[in-house]
Amino acid sequence: MKIILTSNNKNKLREFREILEPAGFEVISQAEAGADIEAEENGETFEENALIKARAVYDMLGLPVISDDSGLEVDALGGAPGVRSARYAEVGHRRERVLRELTGVPEEKRTARFVCVICYIDGEGKEHFVRGECEGKIGYENRGENGFGYDPIFMYGDKSFAEISSEEKNRVSHRAAALEKFRKMFEGNDL
Ligand code: IMP
Repeated sequence: MKIILTSNNKNKLREFREILEPAGFEVISQAEAGADIEAEENGETFEENALIKARAVYDMLGLPVISDDSGLEVDALGGAPGVRSARYAEVGHRRERVLRELTGVPEEKRTARFVCVICYIDGEGKEHFVRGECEGKIGYENRGENGFGYDPIFMYGDKSFAEISSEEKNRVSHRAAALEKFRKMFEGNDL
């Protein structure tokens, strides 16, 4: 079964493929499907943003589309960066902004979670949503070389998300949790 992923981000595409391909899905990027558009993510929630992206591609191609919107919620920052994770600061300064804003915040108050909402629009245009979350804490410095985005400051136990392997991240991440729910919904013929 072919699904178009409304992203051309290599890391996301790899994570979606690693999790969905063993379940029998062929994940095609938006670019490969010939949908050269980028919808403006101006929603107030992860659900709204995921839907905006999925709708734009579905309206163009009329094929099953999967999209995700994800981000980091830091409790001590009232849930920021949240839906604004991708534009919280200039490229290369986003993690530093979070670390700076948490200056002086003790470890027990540095709780945070990655959130991933997946929107799937099926061949008939019906919308389905699932949400996955992964709890952790914001560290005090960048750690590790793997991963992307906020991974080096997101502590999962005593290691950052950039210090664990992609296999391990794929087992425990917010995206893995959402994808697993998606797979189950699909297999359960809940669609
Ligand atoms: P979007 O879902 O493409 O809108 O991007 C969400 C933002 O959250 C990006 O800036 C990512 O850096 C960040 N983000 C989402 N998932 C992860 C992750 O697994 N690790 C690190 N950062 C993430």
